[in-house]
Amino acid sequence: MKIAVIGTGYVGLVTGTCFAETGVTVTCVDVDDNKIRLLKDGTVPIYEPGLETMMRRNIDKGRLKFTNDIRKGIEDAEAVFIAVGTPPGEDGSADLKHVLNVAREIGRSIGDYIVVVIKSTVPVGTSQKVEAVIAEELEKRGNDIKFDMASNPEFLKEGSAVEDFLKPDRIVIGTSTPEAAEIMKKLYKPFLLNNHPILFMDIKSAEITKYAANAMLATRISFINEIANLCDLLGADISYVRKGIGSDSRIGNKFLYPGTGYGGSCFPKDVKALIKTAEEQGYSLNVVKAVEKANEYQKSVLIRKLMKHFHNNLKNKSIGIWGLAFKPQTDDIRESSSIFLINMLLKEGAKVKAYDPAAMDEARKMLGDRITYASGQYDAINGADALALMTEWPEFRIPDLHLMAARMKEKVIFDGRNIFEPAEIKEAGFVYYGIGRG
Ligand code: NAD
Repeated sequence: MKIAVIGTGYVGLVTGTCFAETGVTVTCVDVDDNKIRLLKDGTVPIYEPGLETMMRRNIDKGRLKFTNDIRKGIEDAEAVFIAVGTPPGEDGSADLKHVLNVAREIGRSIGDYIVVVIKSTVPVGTSQKVEAVIAEELEKRGNDIKFDMASNPEFLKEGSAVEDFLKPDRIVIGTSTPEAAEIMKKLYKPFLLNNHPILFMDIKSAEITKYAANAMLATRISFINEIANLCDLLGADISYVRKGIGSDSRIGNKFLYPGTGYGGSCFPKDVKALIKTAEEQGYSLNVVKAVEKANEYQKSVLIRKLMKHFHNNLKNKSIGIWGLAFKPQTDDIRESSSIFLINMLLKEGAKVKAYDPAAMDEARKMLGDRITYASGQYDAINGADALALMTEWPEFRIPDLHLMAARMKEKVIFDGRNIFEPAEIKEAGFVYYGIGRG
């Protein structure tokens, strides 16, 4: 079986590599020539645990290929997966220009029946738009090759993307023909050995399922953040409250960790796009709008605490930052709350020295020489007036408090992820600020 995957970012590359791992011949296509060059050499341009080894194995077996030529990519393929980015447009709706460019290329290139699968997160109705563009290009060619559309939203998490793809909680597939459903079933069969379901539905329902899932997760985060803020005001501890509510089986304990607001390449843009989709129907998603508003507020939770501690004056204060990525096990800094805090600190005249185990290069591209890049976590706090912990990388969890005390000018810790034990930190002579810890 042969397939093509268009777009070799976090989703496309993982999708292509994991399908190749099951014996399928996969050609990955990208417009970024530099990326294609690196990938052909067996180098993964992103940080994703386990991906490089698997990718190299499949390149060596001849099952995984890379090209910038879409025509070559989809030759003889039974399915083509569109996995390009869908960034937010100016009005908050998903910008479909990459998806529609790919659709046009597919229409110009297909030579035989193919299933066009949209894996990118796209608003309801996108499948129809893609179908129309492909049909238009085929008509220009005077060709009536049959093709089918499918929607197959992706639920992988950066940082555990390979594991998530190989052992998915569920696979959602929207199709409109039995032929397309059959091809999708065949492709995904190897991933269903753990008895997790493959859910077939209509295309619109599949498209909205992805947005609804992300909006639900974002809702849990904004909810627990608000309760944490209330705990701060009342002198209660959110870590008890979280356990207290999470042990109710109707609520569950996942995704109830307070912090500095959700970020990353998906939640912020998907929440916005869902609100926009509803507005286009003349409907207001009031809960989701409140989730977004609460998140905007939460992103500045630490700068407010820092300002308060330093009596509204951060000028020339030296702040060490642990963590730049929007979450651990990734180098992705898109919409990262650490970058948000850094920009606020710089605006207040503070000096920033930061360290992240994987995202230093990405941060350098975004922040340039406006901050200092540390060689390690303890280098980041040399002479610092405070530490702000922004990403809960495992290596930050049990810090050497003696070393920290010796290096820091002032012993103050702002724990944006509640990973430290306040009592232990205070016992070592530090001032501790968490999120909702009273
Ligand atoms: P990304 O930005 O990492 O990668 C997109 C890739 O597409 C880039 O390499 C880019 O060069 C390529 N591209 C753009 N236009 C192209 C074209 N015309 N032809 C070929 N390649 C082209 O994006 P990503 O994070 O992998 O996300 C892709 C989609 O998947 C988005 O819709 C996103 O919302 C969704 N998604 C992402 C995640 C995640 O965790 N990153 C999870 C689930 C779903």
